[in-house]
Amino acid sequence: MIVCSRCGREMEDTAWKCVCGGPLEVVDKEQVDGGELKGSSLWRYQPYLGTEKRVSFDEGYTPLVFIEDCYYKLDFLFPTGSFKDRGSTVMMSVLDHHKIPRLVEDSSGNAGASISAYAARAGIMAEIFVPAYASQGKVSQIEAFGAHIRKVEGTREDTRKEALKRAETVYYASHQWNPWFLQGMQTVAYEIAEQFNWDVPDVVVVPVGSGSLYYGVYKGFKHLLESGVIGGIPELVGVQPEVCSPVYNAVYGKERTCEKSVAEGLLVEHPPRLQEIEDVVRHHGKLVVVTEEEIGEGLRKAIRMGLFIEPTSASVMAALEKVEPSESRVAVLTGNGLKATREINDILNKRS
Ligand SMILES: *Cc1c(COP(=O)(O)O)cnc(C)c1O
Ligand SMILES: [Zn+2]
Repeated sequence: MIVCSRCGREMEDTAWKCVCGGPLEVVDKEQVDGGELKGSSLWRYQPYLGTEKRVSFDEGYTPLVFIEDCYYKLDFLFPTGSFKDRGSTVMMSVLDHHKIPRLVEDSSGNAGASISAYAARAGIMAEIFVPAYASQGKVSQIEAFGAHIRKVEGTREDTRKEALKRAETVYYASHQWNPWFLQGMQTVAYEIAEQFNWDVPDVVVVPVGSGSLYYGVYKGFKHLLESGVIGGIPELVGVQPEVCSPVYNAVYGKERTCEKSVAEGLLVEHPPRLQEIEDVVRHHGKLVVVTEEEIGEGLRKAIRMGLFIEPTSASVMAALEKVEPSESRVAVLTGNGLKATREINDILNKRS
């Protein structure tokens, strides 16, 4: 069942937005039973997701590795190289069930690449709007999967507007809006809790662009709490680049415009779930901002440890410097470095 996060209205399964304009979410009805689960992918949580597995590569259940002083959730290890596949497998399973023949999406790259792959798997035609500045690695991926790519000059916001026009006639499979995409995100929380033997770490650090990961992680932990599987929700720390931090600004009453950042996956000026995310931040965590230099340092640190992540993901490494050291911190590493080798080289060569 899909309901509006703002007015509570029930909407149909394929709706992406409420008639009131609010974002939608799936109601978690099944209680989680923290016992033995079957399968080695995120679909081990199928009974709790509200849909059946139809379009999947048996993805997820990614490693959680302790290195130096933190657990790293290796969410860059997905079929298309980013955690977006969590959302795609669940959303595309629902679209396949409803026999949606074509879709449109806008993305800085990773969501487009992910949705294109799952669209290829499902035989759904995909049209992806990307900003002209998106990494070539991501654009090539989208094109290779046979999706129609539309490059838009200007900001990420300009790309969104173009896609919305197209969405008047084609199904809008937006990773920022779609409630089923969000539903996939909450599997990160299930996995972390299960990997902690159905317990929780003190802190979970995630990057925030549209905040679907941040909000999804919260929703997942909330579901576990309501099911009586865990005793509390960990502190949820979100990170945004200082040059583009609309969620941080909204929560802490700052005003600033959105500029380009090496963390290209986080440049979302108008997150659809802004209100909901603000609420979670106030009750369950905080947001931090990191400078371009700090992201660069974070990337160096990750690579020194053997983790080849993309710059967007390195924002989390930088944020760890601003989170109190603790025995149980989890940092979610969202994107693979192979997607942005040129950008990574530029950063690494800058100061050496
Ligand atoms: C999309 C993306 C993010 C941001 O996720 P949101 O759910 O939009 O907040 C972070 N890291 C990477 C690598 C991404 O592709
Ligand atoms: Zn509504």
